[in-house]
Amino acid sequence: MTMTKFEELHKLKNEMEKDDSLPLKKSATKLVFGTGNTEAKILCIGEGPGFNEDREGLPFVGQAGKLLDKLLPLAGLERREVFITNIVHHRPPENRDPEPDEIAAYGIYLDKIIEIIDPEVIITLGRFSMTKFLPNVFISQVHGKRYDIAWHGKNLIVIPMYHPAASLRNGNVLEAEKTDFFQLKEILRRMEEERKKVVPKTEQIGLI
Ligand code: URA
Repeated sequence: MTMTKFEELHKLKNEMEKDDSLPLKKSATKLVFGTGNTEAKILCIGEGPGFNEDREGLPFVGQAGKLLDKLLPLAGLERREVFITNIVHHRPPENRDPEPDEIAAYGIYLDKIIEIIDPEVIITLGRFSMTKFLPNVFISQVHGKRYDIAWHGKNLIVIPMYHPAASLRNGNVLEAEKTDFFQLKEILRRMEEERKKVVPKTEQIGLI
């Protein structure tokens, strides 16, 4: 019997919890696997858990998360509509940046999360998750834009956004990020229109 996405994610989370090879596990309190709508078309990927996330085992529950909760509605989205995870799923000590070997170790699981959720759109929050899909670009030049990419044999739309924590530190970044989320609403509206224009397969058969 085929498993639902919820069941598949639950199984993966259990595997991750048992995986003692994960490099940041020893210094962390809880695994922060990810949360949200398991049937989501939009997957948000942040950087890594901070102090509050480490204690609660949930992503974006601290100040950056509170800002994210205010940014998503600018794009016509609610948090419960999307799935949210991170590039690393244990808190790096002292909130330092994740190292490349750590990103690679957690990346094996992140790729499985992406495969299971099978999103249409990935919103990257900050440069670490951006670099996974768009290497060799600067966030200052690409933020808020739509990138259609091929990812593991599948077409994906990636929209790189500033990390909400960067917006909390810098008012100019916050203004840019608000504009990006406003424009995301338009990007999503156009996607919806494109989808309506595609002739459904059954009608295509009828046209032959
Ligand atoms: N910042 C992140 O990148 N992820 C979280 O879960 C919290 C803060």
